[in-house]
Amino acid sequence: MRSPADYVSQRALAVDASGIRKVFDLAAKLKDPINLSIGLPDFDVPEVAKQAAVEAIQSGQNRYTQTQGIAPLRERLRADLSREFGRDVGDVLITSGVSGGLLLAILAVLDPGDEAIFLDPYFVMYKHLITMAGGKSVIVDSYPDFRFHDDRVENAITPRTKMLILNSPSNPTGVVMSEQEIRSAVDLARKHDLLILSDEIYEPFLYDINRSANQQLYSPAAVYEKTIVLRGFSKSHAMTGWRLGYAAGPEAIIAQMTKLQQYTFVCAPSPLQYAALKALDVPMDEAVKAYRRKRDIVFDGLSRKFEVVKPEGAFYIFPKAPKGASASEFVARAIDKNVLIIPGNVFSERDTHFRISYATTDEKLAQGCEILNSLV
Ligand code: PMP
Repeated sequence: MRSPADYVSQRALAVDASGIRKVFDLAAKLKDPINLSIGLPDFDVPEVAKQAAVEAIQSGQNRYTQTQGIAPLRERLRADLSREFGRDVGDVLITSGVSGGLLLAILAVLDPGDEAIFLDPYFVMYKHLITMAGGKSVIVDSYPDFRFHDDRVENAITPRTKMLILNSPSNPTGVVMSEQEIRSAVDLARKHDLLILSDEIYEPFLYDINRSANQQLYSPAAVYEKTIVLRGFSKSHAMTGWRLGYAAGPEAIIAQMTKLQQYTFVCAPSPLQYAALKALDVPMDEAVKAYRRKRDIVFDGLSRKFEVVKPEGAFYIFPKAPKGASASEFVARAIDKNVLIIPGNVFSERDTHFRISYATTDEKLAQGCEILNSLV
């Protein structure tokens, strides 16, 4: 007779989430920690968006929407992205968070055995979604500067490589790809005929680029048509619980993602799509300015004692643990002092660095830095 555990698929068993679970277990033990582990903004959803959500519910927008999302939101996003990239971006699908877009894109593109390349450190979900799809993750080391080294990436390309996943600004490093790096990635994709999946969830949080001046290329989508862009509202508008994102790219792929959404998520939450449309008109510059300041506080606070790359986007920084300690050991010591950070091996094949999220108050940040410095 089979026990319940015997029913579990090889697919599920192949996904190992033990790293992040350990962190949650440690976190649960702490009372009122200085929490520098959370991957979401510390500001609230804009009032206009909350009101719009309430109104949408009250006025009866509570049924399924079309699988691809409501037309006014899709049209607006297509127009905005096309203006931003200087070309028609293709089709737009509203997804259940960027997570939903990632799953659908990977399922729509990778056959079993197909390879997808991404840089280490990486956002954890890539690896697990690729495993679920039967694909193979090819992870290219980007230490110690976390830059896109085109020679390393090219060495990892095989006849089975189908997809290059980029994530700029990056979780967990905060690194933003330079124009030169974007161009090299696109050159490689052209040369080897790869699709680029560009996870741009942190795109609103770019601190050193003046976008209105069109100063610098920051998305491959502006120069490479075979790009699927994934963006969302979770981080830009502090709506992680609303589960809203979008995918834009070539119609042939977005159509397949839409079909797969029809039989999985069905559609993104209906009233919240109406609210997201309103949220697009709320200027978020103040929040971005505040995060730039926090970036400076944490970088200035740690760079004397830690080896650390200055982040240019998102709200993470990824310093190296002091000499002689693995990141896990150092994190355990920090947690003993009530500072919650995440060991790098959750996002990496290495256990040498740790992730700080600086999406917290300036006071907590300063306190956290002081305690971490005292541990060196
Ligand atoms: N990509 C990256 C790089 C992320 O950090 C996250 C969230 N932590 C996601 C995608 C998924 O975001 P969501 O599903 O909330 O839109």
